[in-house]
This record gives sequence, structure tokens and C-alpha cells, in this order.
Amino acid sequence: MAGLLYVISGPSGVGKTSIIEGVMKKVRNVVFSVSCTTRPKRPNEVEGRDYFFVDERTFLDMVQKDEFLEWAVVHGHYYGTPRKFVEEQIQKGINVILDIDVQGATTVMKKIKDAVFVFIAPPSFDELKKRLLKRGTEKEEDMLKRLEDAKRELEQIPKFQYLIVNVDLQESIEQLTSIIVAEQLKVSRVIERLGFHKLFSIGGGST
Ligand code: 5GP
Repeated sequence: MAGLLYVISGPSGVGKTSIIEGVMKKVRNVVFSVSCTTRPKRPNEVEGRDYFFVDERTFLDMVQKDEFLEWAVVHGHYYGTPRKFVEEQIQKGINVILDIDVQGATTVMKKIKDAVFVFIAPPSFDELKKRLLKRGTEKEEDMLKRLEDAKRELEQIPKFQYLIVNVDLQESIEQLTSIIVAEQLKVSRVIERLGFHKLFSIGGGST
């Protein structure tokens, strides 16, 4: 049976990466899709773990060859989800997590009806500003752009199926874990996974 695609979106600095990292330690059979980007690498980032860092020419060449499931310009740089990796995992029955922006999520909504869409929001706009300042990974100009973009992203919340307000990291990790597990326990998906007859033999006996 095919794996599920979980699309996690939300403004820059909201804590998506930490939440996803926490969830990956708790949930089995889930992999993270590493995106390609033209954004410069941050000192703490590792090629192939955080992103595949490519130049603009390489990125546009990949767009031409239709190698992305989705791609977008986010905060002035290109970002894209490699299609082959996601398709291979899903075919193998492995669930995949994407951490992508709202434009990318909207593209996936049109392409993959069965995917699960989760928005992570900050408790307030001021809190988001504080977190971005504390993270300190962007120059002031870039940070202001990220805050400006966040306003537009928050307006898109109604398109999503689930909303987590990240007040407390551990609680958000629990919440995203619950969503991931619950989605896999939907009757239609359990039947698809086990087959209807096998499902009956789980319960045994008669009523
Ligand atoms: P950052 O530069 O802070 O790592 O990421 C900036 C934004 O780009 C985040 O909102 C992140 O979710 C988004 N992003 C990361 N990878 C992708 C991708 O492959 N596609 C799209 N559309 N957005 C991405």
C-alpha cells in the first residue's frame, strides 16, 4: 500500500524544523524530503541533510526537466521538492514529510488529493518576530521580508486541514504526531493496508 504525504507549512521562524525533528524521533516509517534551494547555506546546515544547495542555473535546469513535484520562489530564493525521491518512497509504502511554503503546499493540493496538509502558526505576530530575531540567521532586510511574507501566509490557513499553534514545542510535537498517526488509522486506509478479510481476523470471535 502507498505511503502518505504530509505537507507541513507555516511562516519562517515558527518552529517547523524543530517540530518535524521531534516527530521524526517518535514516528516509524516516516522520512523527510530534503529540498533543493538556491539560498546560501547557513553555517550550521549540512548539504543533503538540510537542503541540496544548488546554483540558479542548476535549479532552473531541474525545473525544465520537470524534476520537481513543486517549486516556488520563497523570500527571494528558489526552493523545490525533488519529485523522484517522494514518488519512490510513497510507492514503497513509506510516509513522507515535506516542509514547504504555502505556495508549494497549494501546488501539492492540486496534484495529490490524498496528501495531508498541516499549517503551523505562531501564537502571535510579535512572537514570530521575537523568534526570528532570536534565531538570528537572517540579515535584518531578509528578516523583514520573511515577516512581510508571513502575513500573506497566515491568510492561507483556511486551505489547510489541520492547524497547530506552536506555543510549546513539546505540545506541538505531540499534536503533529497525533495527526500523523490518526491519518494512518482512517478506516479506508487500514482496509487498504490490511485488506478487508484480514481486518476481520484481527478482532477474532463473534459478537
Ligand atoms: P528557510 O530558508 O528558512 O530554510 O526556508 C524558507 C521557507 O522555504 C520555509 O517556509 C520552508 O518551508 C520553505 N521551503 C523549504 N523547502 C521548500 C520547497 O522545496 N518548496 C517550497 N515551496 N518551499 C520550501
